[in-house]
Amino acid sequence: MSHSIFRKNAYGSYYFFRQVIEIHNDTLLIDEDKAGKIIESCGTDAVNEREINFYRTYVHESTHFLDSTTTIWGIEYSIRLYNCLKNNNRKELVDVFLLNDSEIQQHSSFDDVNSTYINYRTIRSIPAYDAKHGAHLLFKYYDVQKGLFSEVLSVPVSMLALIEGHAFAQEQCAALALMKSKNDHVSINLLEREYRKILHDPNFTEYSCILAFTEQLFEKYEFEEKLLIVIYTCRMALDLPTLFPFPEQYIDSFFNECKPELISALKMELMRGMNRSSLAVLMLIALSHVLEKEPIDKTCSFSSELEASLFKIFRRNEETIEKCREKFHIFRTLEYETGCTLLNEKGAELAFLSATNNNQWKWLYSDLDKVAIPQVLLSSGPFIDSKLTLNFDMEKQYFSYDEQVLQLTQLVEKNKGKPHLRPDFVHEWLKELKGSGAGGLFFLPD
Ligand SMILES: [Zn+2]
Repeated sequence: MSHSIFRKNAYGSYYFFRQVIEIHNDTLLIDEDKAGKIIESCGTDAVNEREINFYRTYVHESTHFLDSTTTIWGIEYSIRLYNCLKNNNRKELVDVFLLNDSEIQQHSSFDDVNSTYINYRTIRSIPAYDAKHGAHLLFKYYDVQKGLFSEVLSVPVSMLALIEGHAFAQEQCAALALMKSKNDHVSINLLEREYRKILHDPNFTEYSCILAFTEQLFEKYEFEEKLLIVIYTCRMALDLPTLFPFPEQYIDSFFNECKPELISALKMELMRGMNRSSLAVLMLIALSHVLEKEPIDKTCSFSSELEASLFKIFRRNEETIEKCREKFHIFRTLEYETGCTLLNEKGAELAFLSATNNNQWKWLYSDLDKVAIPQVLLSSGPFIDSKLTLNFDMEKQYFSYDEQVLQLTQLVEKNKGKPHLRPDFVHEWLKELKGSGAGGLFFLPD
């Protein structure tokens, strides 16, 4: 389950195992009638701060639903989830599911943090390995004291950073669009100020690190542009087909002083479609290099220029951006459709319905009249319709597999570590594969 973790009062939740969106309308003092109107109007009916917070939360939790049912990562997650729920959480199936879920569950422990503000000047990303997380990227936050850099915090980039960073950026964009339509410059300034404050709160760095890193890499860009950079990069990282991999040479050049074993282990994770959070960070670094060479033309649409710049990362030789984009969509469609077939076979009905209804590629989710969402649970009781509602009995969905969900929650709690391979083993294995002349992609058996 995920709360709106960036705020003290949780205004909403997304139940990953039940695939249910809940909004705490009574905490926000919004009655059911008003809640329905805000959702129906895609936020334009939200006038005051409470109502805008309601809509933001709706966008946030819907992003979790869409990420986990309409992206390559999410479809795999749902297939493995239903494999467990439909088969009484058989051990070998739960072990496979843990590969994906442990990435969400990885929490660093910041329990001893008393302050709500840290000073930092710069963030570095470095490849790391530990028994709990496997090979991953780690962010180190530094401050300057007496002319010297000193480390103030280190955070492993987990799947939480990716999905929460993505959802938070989507909700900020939605709020910004509403405030802009009302010419409310005071609220826009407050929104931006609140955002920056959150990036400096050590209690949230586990979730906000990708946002903070984007601030640093793209400091010349405006607030909204940086949000779009987060959204586009995260969205693409969640949806990158394994047949359209991140170019290896970037990893070699970014971290050429790192131990080769560590780099091999990281590459292996990416080849398997795992560690998409580290992938998002790599894409951000590559994007910053692309934009340094060819900055965005401010006379054109920022979104389409940004999209083109992302595809420049993946272009091979003299390939055009159009050709590269076309290749991405061909491979993505292939994996997406295979995923849909499996969702159907495994009986993941809601995820299947969402995946088949939302198969048109969409970068932004804030425009929720074009995305099909299931009915949303209000904390005051009823399920209410979305603007474009998926025809599914959500009350039944909420209570089905009750026992299995509870059992799976306990099993996940007990097995938080991530099953992984040691870097030296992976390195030798990759060397052997390359030496044997075998090409293409390699998958580890599930
Ligand atoms: Zn969330």
